Amino acid sequence: MNIILFGPPGCGKGTQAKRLVTERGWVQLSTGDMLRAAVASGSELGNRVKAIMDGGNLVSDEIVIELIEERLPEAEAAGGAIFDGFPRTVAQAEALDAALSKRSTKVDAVVRLLVDDAELVARMEKRAAEEGRADDNIEAFKVRLNAYQEQTAPLLPFYADQGKLREVEGMGSMEEVAARIATALDEK
Ligand code: AMP
Repeated sequence: MNIILFGPPGCGKGTQAKRLVTERGWVQLSTGDMLRAAVASGSELGNRVKAIMDGGNLVSDEIVIELIEERLPEAEAAGGAIFDGFPRTVAQAEALDAALSKRSTKVDAVVRLLVDDAELVARMEKRAAEEGRADDNIEAFKVRLNAYQEQTAPLLPFYADQGKLREVEGMGSMEEVAARIATALDEK
């Protein structure tokens, strides 16, 4: 099964993706993690995207699409992909559909995690203290939220029209949210 975990920065996509890896054996495909690894390695790609990421802006569609395509065989071998933080634009969603369809597969479900803005800020501040991510500060966070509203939220009708969108309450404990996601994935 190929699923997209969808929602604004700080809504819990990464945490829930990791749980699904353990519970279902699928592969987490987080473009944010891939890009942070590139930055940490000091590669040419990392150097190109660092300032964009630190400011909270989106990197180009071409870069993230290529990163995802490289990992699709691995996800296929595992029996499923959990897309986390991808797609973030309509162009990315279309490229994902095309890449999956070439492999005779598709996006099966898009799980949208609903979390209110005050909680998003609180979670970002907690993560800033724990992980020290360069973009976990209030200025970059505002830019990221704005990018979500302007460029990523338009994907909701794209997936709703295809009957793939499943909305899940993202407030509450990690376990509560995980249980709601499991219910949403298991419903046909
Ligand atoms: P994330 O860890 O998903 O919050 O991503 C951190 C940052 O990486 C974002 O603020 C963007 O700068 C960049 N990024 C991650 N995924 C994407 C994507 N699908 N499209 C464009 N930029 C991305």
